[in-house]
Order: sequence, then structure tokens, then C-alpha cells
Amino acid sequence: MATRKRPVRKVPELPKCGPCNGTGEVPRAVRVGRKHRLVGQQSGICLSCLGTGEATD
Ligand SMILES: [Zn+2]
Repeated sequence: MATRKRPVRKVPELPKCGPCNGTGEVPRAVRVGRKHRLVGQQSGICLSCLGTGEATD
């Protein structure tokens, strides 16, 4: 009896960028004024992966 081999689907593991967790964007606090009052958050491009979300080594 022939046993069918199940194709093992291997997900290629892309190394995720740490600071942005693979999203390519990091939340940035927006501060204004002399007291650096926090006015909100913006998403900014991740400087570690430059927006790709992949860890570059
Ligand atoms: Zn990143």
C-alpha cells in the first residue's frame, strides 16, 4: 500500500524587523512646544528596516 506523502508546506520565514514588528511603521509621539507637550501619535517609517518590515542584517 502506497502511502501518500503529504506535501509539507513550508512557510518561508522572513526575519521580522524588531522595532516595527514587521509592519514597517512605528508609532511616533508628536510633541510640540517648549514643554514638549504630547499632542498625539503618528505612524512613522521604521528606520531599522526603512519600511519593508524585514529585518536587514
Ligand atoms: Zn522595521
